[in-house]
Amino acid sequence: MRDLVQNVYQAKDTETALNLLNQHQSEAKILAGGTDLIIQMREGNVSPPVLIDISSIHETREIKEQSNTIELGSTATFTDIEKHILFNHCLSAIAKAARSIGSPQIRNRATVGGNLCNASPAADMLPPLLAMDAMVVLKSKHQTRVLPLSEFVTGKEQTLLQVDELLEKIRFQNLTSNEGLGFSKLGIRNALAIARLSMAVYLEWDENHMCKNVRIASGALGLNAQREWDVERFMKGKHLNNSLFAEVAALLEESTMKRLAGRNTMNFKRYAVQGVFKQALDEALEGMDRRKDS
Ligand SMILES: Cc1cc2nc3c(=O)[nH]c(=O)nc-3n(C[C@H](O)[C@H](O)[C@H](O)COP(=O)(O)OP(=O)(O)OC[C@H]3O[C@@H](n4cnc5c(N)ncnc54)[C@H](O)[C@@H]3O)c2cc1C
Repeated sequence: MRDLVQNVYQAKDTETALNLLNQHQSEAKILAGGTDLIIQMREGNVSPPVLIDISSIHETREIKEQSNTIELGSTATFTDIEKHILFNHCLSAIAKAARSIGSPQIRNRATVGGNLCNASPAADMLPPLLAMDAMVVLKSKHQTRVLPLSEFVTGKEQTLLQVDELLEKIRFQNLTSNEGLGFSKLGIRNALAIARLSMAVYLEWDENHMCKNVRIASGALGLNAQREWDVERFMKGKHLNNSLFAEVAALLEESTMKRLAGRNTMNFKRYAVQGVFKQALDEALEGMDRRKDS
C-alpha cells in the first residue's frame, strides 16, 4: 500500500464503530470484507490513515423478517445471503444475484453493505434491491437516516453516505401473492468478471394479468445502477402479454442506444438488454406461478 495506514481498529459492535467514525471523520474508512477497499488502497486510489474493521460485528450481520419487512444487515456476506432461507423461495432472485458474484472465496468475505457503498455501476446487489424499492438505514453517533436506495446512489461510485455514517441495514417489504422478482446477468463467462449487464424486474399483477405495479432496475447500463422509470411508467396498467414485452424490449433498446451513444459497448448492449430483460421478467412471472402452486 502506497501510504501507510496508521491505525486499524477492530470494532466489536456498532456503537464502537460509530464512536470511532465520529472521532476520525474523513480520516477513517470502514473496512467490511475489504474486497473493494483493499484493491483501491493497493492501487493508490484511496489512502485512509484510519481503518475501522466492522467484519466481526454480529448485530449488523443478521438477516430477518418481521411483519413482512425484511431486514438485511450490512455485513451479511454473499454466502450468508445465498444460503438464507428467506431467499430460497419467492425471493430466490436475491440469492441468485449473490451467487453470481465473484468466486466462493470472494462471496465468503464480500458484504452487501460494501457492494452498495462502493456503488460500482456493475454492483450486482443493486438491481434486485432497487427493484424491491429497498431503503437504507444509515447511522451516525448522533442520528439515524432512512433513505430510498434509489436516492442513496447518486452516480458512479457516488452515494449520499456521510463521513461519520455507517450503513447499518437494508430494509424492504417481502413479496406477497401476485408479486414476483427476477434477476438476470450477462457477462459471467469468467466467474470472476464484474457484470457487464444485469437487470432485476419486480412485478405485481391482478387476476386479469394486468400490470398493477412494476419496478425495473439495471446494472452496467450507464454511470450507475438505476431504476428504469420510463419503462415502468409505460408498463403500468397494461395487460401482461407478449406484445407488451416486445414493446418494452424495443423501448429498452432505444434508451440503451441513447444512454451509451459513442461507447463501443452500445452495439452489444442494445441487443443484450432485451434478452436480459426477458429473462428477469420470466423469472418474476415464474415466481408468481410457484406461489400459486404452493
Ligand atoms: C475478484 C473479484 C471479483 C468480484 N466480482 C464481483 C461481481 O461479480 N459482482 C459484484 O457486484 N462485485 C464484485 N466484486 C466487488 C466486491 O466483491 C463487492 O463490491 C463487495 O460487495 C464489496 O464488499 P466488501 O465487504 O468487500 O466491501 P469493502 O471493500 O470492505 O468496502 C467497500 C467500500 O464500502 C465502504 N463500506 C463497506 N461497508 C460499509 C458500511 N456498512 N457502511 C459504510 N461504508 C461501508 C468501505 O469504506 C469502502 O469504501 C468483485 C471483487 C473481486 C476482488
